[in-house]
Amino acid sequence: MARIGFIGLGNMGGPMAVNLVKAGHEVLGFDLAAPVLKAAEESGVKPASHASQAVKDAEIVITMLPQGKHVLTAWTDILQSVAQGTLVIDCSTIDVESSRKAHEMAKAAGCLSLDAPVSGGTGGASAGTLTFMAGGSGGAFAKAKPVLEAMGKKIVHCGEAGAGQAAKICNNMILGISMVGVCEAFVLAEKLGLSHQALFDVASTSSGQCWSINTYCPVPGPVPTSPANNDYKPGFAAALMLKDLKLSQEAALASGASTPLGAEAAQLYALFDKLGNGGRDFSAIIEMFREKM
Ligand code: NAD
Repeated sequence: MARIGFIGLGNMGGPMAVNLVKAGHEVLGFDLAAPVLKAAEESGVKPASHASQAVKDAEIVITMLPQGKHVLTAWTDILQSVAQGTLVIDCSTIDVESSRKAHEMAKAAGCLSLDAPVSGGTGGASAGTLTFMAGGSGGAFAKAKPVLEAMGKKIVHCGEAGAGQAAKICNNMILGISMVGVCEAFVLAEKLGLSHQALFDVASTSSGQCWSINTYCPVPGPVPTSPANNDYKPGFAAALMLKDLKLSQEAALASGASTPLGAEAAQLYALFDKLGNGGRDFSAIIEMFREKM
């Protein structure tokens, strides 16, 4: 069992760190927010008073932070405090450029590094069923895999530095676009007098099928577990979808990729967020299409 330093114990990081404790690892945690640190302590994470204290003597360090700037700041501290050869894993969803920079910093410090963003949300973090998309060397991946398996059910090595972040934002761009498309189809069906159930029965078993309709249907009824049946409580908050779509558009601009539907989805989610819906599930955007736009 490993000694692990865990930085960022929020909605995702907290339950992930607790699953590492349950798997028998010694986990020293740090978060800037005292209540979050206390909650993790109550579930067996040893609290540290500073990031450097949490990572000192750790064989593996994991960060789970909001954005690239937080990761680069935290990694600067971490890399000054760990021994050469330590494996540092970032599980946050951040821009590809910052992720690659973090890998370079780790290499310069003589450390192994992996970007390993997740999908599966807070439910998956608590249940230990996350999907990890990893980028980095084969050696870093091999060392990380048994530890990531304590927090997730599917661990995919996507390629070299930044490839995990690239996979994450490409996947979530598909999700944002497909949810908008499914919502538009249900609103059109309503105007045409077609029932939700009839559209679902046809589209979920024919060429319109996708996760946004089959598993996460944005109207109440056809898929009882979807947030539409729970007043659009997240689930996956619209603000987080907007964050990921913005990251996809930054990456498209930097790489010269043409993503017109990704750009449109980003604008629609920006408007939805501006209208005060950032904390609602991202499938609630269907309500915006029922208004005249
Ligand atoms: P969160 O805001 O709940 O947690 C982030 C934590 O980081 C906070 O507790 C904050 O105090 C702490 N923090 C910030 N800077 C720090 C620093 N320098 N040192 C120590 N602690 C610091 O966010 P979250 O929902 O846990 O998301 C974390 C990451 O996971 C984000 O990148 C997010 O995009 C990604 N993600 C979230 C979800 C989700 O459903 N919430 C799903 C997939 C991916």
